[in-house]
Amino acid sequence: MSATKVTKICCIGAGYVGGPTCAVIAVKCPHIKVTIVDLNAARIAAWNSPDFKLPIYEPGLEQVVREARGRNLFFSTDVDKGIEEADLIFVSVNTPTKKSGVGAGSAADLNYVELATRRIATVANSSKIVVEKSTVPCRTAESMRTILEANSKPNCRFDILSNPEFLAEGTAISDLYNPDRVLIGSLQTPEGKAASDALVSVYANWVPTDRILTVGLWSSELSKLAANAMLAQRISSINALSAICEATGANIDEVAHAIGYDSRVGPKFLKASVGFGGSCFQKDILNLVYLSESCHLPEVAAYWRQVVEINEYQKRRFSKRVVDTLFNTITGKRIAVLGFAFKADTGDTRESAAITLIKDFQSERALVNVYDPQVEHSQIWADLQEASPLIPLDSIKKQVTICNSALEACKDAEAVVIATEWKEFLEIDWEAVYQNMNKPAFVFDGRLLVDADKLRKIGFKVTTIGRAEVA
Ligand code: NAD
Repeated sequence: MSATKVTKICCIGAGYVGGPTCAVIAVKCPHIKVTIVDLNAARIAAWNSPDFKLPIYEPGLEQVVREARGRNLFFSTDVDKGIEEADLIFVSVNTPTKKSGVGAGSAADLNYVELATRRIATVANSSKIVVEKSTVPCRTAESMRTILEANSKPNCRFDILSNPEFLAEGTAISDLYNPDRVLIGSLQTPEGKAASDALVSVYANWVPTDRILTVGLWSSELSKLAANAMLAQRISSINALSAICEATGANIDEVAHAIGYDSRVGPKFLKASVGFGGSCFQKDILNLVYLSESCHLPEVAAYWRQVVEINEYQKRRFSKRVVDTLFNTITGKRIAVLGFAFKADTGDTRESAAITLIKDFQSERALVNVYDPQVEHSQIWADLQEASPLIPLDSIKKQVTICNSALEACKDAEAVVIATEWKEFLEIDWEAVYQNMNKPAFVFDGRLLVDADKLRKIGFKVTTIGRAEVA
């Protein structure tokens, strides 16, 4: 079978993955028309905004969108038209953890994937290559194929590929321009291989072919879950070691450095912290847990579940350290939380450690000042309300104040808690912060960001992850 020549791409889902990924495809493949569709009209309006106030913050994204929007890159709410005219369709919709029902708390909610798949089947008048871009449980492509085949019009055939996305928020554009690898999974049939070749030919416009890996469908689906689980496992491993460091006097930076020198381990992703966040790590590990349980592998499920449990433990341990250090009570004390995004260089707050910390501080009846350079105030209120659904927003607002600068957040505070590793926090005038705080003035560095010795010289009492000393 000869490979289909891709001339028109539709991406269903204009979120953190669909938007940047397909914008980069449009830039790198000016001969392909790329239309990104979404049911969320406000999101599409933001992608189309004349002053490029895009719905997500990602370094380099605006330049990419400026280059291709209106040329061969389009954003639209007309999902049907996007599907109809495309020969290749990415499904890049959200796949959150199920909140209720069967598998609640670990299984993926595949409702959005199913709705998008049904829409493709209903609308398509010609054959399509349908590409899973969303992170999905192993063998989801089989369900998609069943739905497509049962609902398609005569003479429409669908080939399904898995092409999971490995970008990291905050570095999405450079990850997409220069990926470690692109993974494409297909059925090992002539038709499957032809569809795979068609997608390879898209990426080959800028990705070296030795970095485009073609594998079986199920291996591709599982590899995405496994890759995130392995990354998160490294963080939980180093965080578990940080607890031992705090108890013994060892220094986690020195330990991580020593471990990372072993070429079998490597130095990356060994930074201890208050815990990982983001929409993917926890969700994808829980997905793996659910998959293991479904395959009757309880020991395997327990192994991966522990990675999430250590992460929760790390956050709780950090909150407890704040309370313990502040003389066992933070009631009525003002605490400045610097950073609300789940990591630097993104405005994404999903599963952010800051949310857990602030909730803990609220329940100890502290007063909390929050500052983040990118996250919209409305998003902070929405997240805090979601975290404490039984507390009216007015009451939350009596305890929490959102500030417009780090200096403002730290005024009259007893303690500063660094929750996100924004570079901006390295440039804070810490002398001025110290002057404006109540004494003794404490800093809790949840990201191993600041120079603790420098701050101690100013007069701060500094607590960092993975070190015993406080003074
Ligand atoms: P997101 O929530 O930012 O975006 C998903 C978009 O899909 C939303 O805007 C939603 O309105 C839209 N949508 C849902 N159903 C739709 C439908 N039927 N028709 C049209 N639009 C629809 O999610 P995201 O962060 O972009 O993640 C998407 C997928 O990619 C998830 O499976 C996620 O696990 C995976 N992933 C995410 C990242 C990341 O860093 N965010 C990285 C790799 C993979």
